[in-house]
Amino acid sequence: MAFQRGPRGSGIMGPGGDCVCPKCGKKVRHEYAEPCRQVRCPDCGTAMVREGSPHHETLQG
Ligand SMILES: [Zn+2]
Repeated sequence: MAFQRGPRGSGIMGPGGDCVCPKCGKKVRHEYAEPCRQVRCPDCGTAMVREGSPHHETLQG
């Protein structure tokens, strides 16, 4: 009877997915709540972006 709703993330795209380095293309597995932008590329130290995110192409900096 009662509709069971799953927990909603507030604007979060959900767990899983990869972070990709916009500079060298390095990909790392991303399973944490930490945004990709706070993850540094292990190779070149550039702030990474979420793979497939709309900000992937329009990264500034
Ligand atoms: Zn890199």
